[in-house]
Amino acid sequence: KGKSKKYAKSASKEINTAAVLGAGIMGGGIAYQSALKGVPAVMKDIKQDALDLGMKEAGKILKKGVERGKVSSEKMIKVLSSITPTLLNDAVKDVDIVVEAVVENPKVKGSVLAEVEGVISDDAILTSNTSTISITELAKNLKRPEKFCGMHFFNPVHKMPLVEIIRGEKTSDETVAAVVAYALKLGKTPIVVNDCPGFYVNRVLFPYLAGFAGMVDEGIDFVGIDKVMEKMFGWPMGPAYLSDVVGIDTADHCTVVMADGFPSRMARNESSAIAQLAKAERYGQKNGKGFYVYG
Ligand code: NAD
Repeated sequence: KGKSKKYAKSASKEINTAAVLGAGIMGGGIAYQSALKGVPAVMKDIKQDALDLGMKEAGKILKKGVERGKVSSEKMIKVLSSITPTLLNDAVKDVDIVVEAVVENPKVKGSVLAEVEGVISDDAILTSNTSTISITELAKNLKRPEKFCGMHFFNPVHKMPLVEIIRGEKTSDETVAAVVAYALKLGKTPIVVNDCPGFYVNRVLFPYLAGFAGMVDEGIDFVGIDKVMEKMFGWPMGPAYLSDVVGIDTADHCTVVMADGFPSRMARNESSAIAQLAKAERYGQKNGKGFYVYG
């Protein structure tokens, strides 16, 4: 944290307004955290349902805070009114920073980032919450790669302290400093890392999930694996449940990126449990069924 504060001190641009692209598990959480910490956030999606759900989830977290006496009713109203849900691209044009959090697909992210770069001001910062895709690769579509970096939050955003700030080949020091300062403003613990598929944490996580999927392919019961990892090994949750929390579609996309990036460590496997569940549109908690079924 000391190192991050030093970084942040050198920031010449202060982030006072933000926009999040994608109102899903992550985008919704990032918009909420930003508003909570006093940085109003525009939350943009292509689906009205996603925006409604994003607002509902923010409301739920705040309501719990009110019930526990940790948040006042006034604060709850203030936070909710500092999130602006929208379907319009133009609504993001005046913000200081954009955090892209759409589907983990390099082509989709590439075109979404290029489009938004054409809307925001020249000195605004653009970031991606990608879990695995190289920042240098994503920057190839951009006119101002020096103003672009990774800003990788973890799920659930309001609880997880870590944010990876990923420096692409052309990211400027100024951009890194401003994004570190914004992460600190959000009450997070930023770490600045170099670019490669999976960055820091997901180079550990996805080989682990691939190992788990391989065991399921061998016919080992996933419930048993979860039980051992959680109850006996002491992790907060096992790999099947974790995949449902992350989102099976996201986990599947990430596995492909990681297998392509590190072929000697992981292989693409179309018949793996995660790939099969994704094909069957069992996306985990977000649509009520994945490895498990949710009520
Ligand atoms: P999600 O499926 O919950 O949400 C994605 C949202 O993006 C959807 O609401 C969708 O409608 C919207 N969207 C799609 N195209 C869009 C566009 N062109 N403009 C605006 N919105 C668009 O996914 P998620 O889990 O929130 O993941 C989003 C990103 O965050 C991915 O890159 C993922 O890898 C990353 N991430 C996910 C996790 C996790 O645990 N789920 C953790 C860290 C990072």
